[in-house]
Amino acid sequence: MARAKADDLLAAYKAKRDFGKTPEPGAKRARAKGNSFVIQKHAARRTHFDFRLEHDGVLKSWAVTKGPSLDPSQKRLAVMTEDHPLEYGGFEGVIPKGQYGAGPVMIWDKGTWEPLNDPDEGLAKGDFKIRLHGHRLNGDFVLVRMKPRPQDRGKQNWLLIKKRDEYAGDGDEPTQEFDTSVKSGRTMEEIETGDVPIWNSDKAQKKTQSRSKRAVTAKPARKPARKKAR
Ligand code: MN
Repeated sequence: MARAKADDLLAAYKAKRDFGKTPEPGAKRARAKGNSFVIQKHAARRTHFDFRLEHDGVLKSWAVTKGPSLDPSQKRLAVMTEDHPLEYGGFEGVIPKGQYGAGPVMIWDKGTWEPLNDPDEGLAKGDFKIRLHGHRLNGDFVLVRMKPRPQDRGKQNWLLIKKRDEYAGDGDEPTQEFDTSVKSGRTMEEIETGDVPIWNSDKAQKKTQSRSKRAVTAKPARKPARKKAR
């Protein structure tokens, strides 16, 4: 029963994607239980930050338009999106033109999280308190669901807010401070063009190269770099 429910959780993810054309992972649910989180910078039509927390064998996901802030006075709009497979937390690369969410995806932060209240209750009630242990984001946050309005057209709007603690900072905007991948050290431009940063360690380079090889296999003809909107 729990299994069927979780497969349903990924139905929307599956329906939106053509896995013959996108290098994104398939809608497979992982069995391992963990407490990972990932924030992916995603230059789709508009650049945003996808905030994903492992729960129930999937990644609960929100698109944070302006990105997370460490300033407790900043309430960042976080639009809930479809649950993603756990494997997605390791995805960095380019979603091809014409596919859902086309554009480069960077692993901007990753780590583990812990609930500060019952997560199922928090998600249901729209008051979800969490503590992050990441490279760039640490400390306590709350996700608060806003009252639904007709103009939301069924979208669930939440607010991501930093709580006051030792990691909070007035005016601190980590998304402006850090613009490289915590996984590969690459910038969005390097991810988009498949370039390997020259300063990387041998180990990191090898990882990056084997990943681009995979991307080439999935997509034989390399397309010219997409024009940047900004
Ligand atoms: Mn996205």
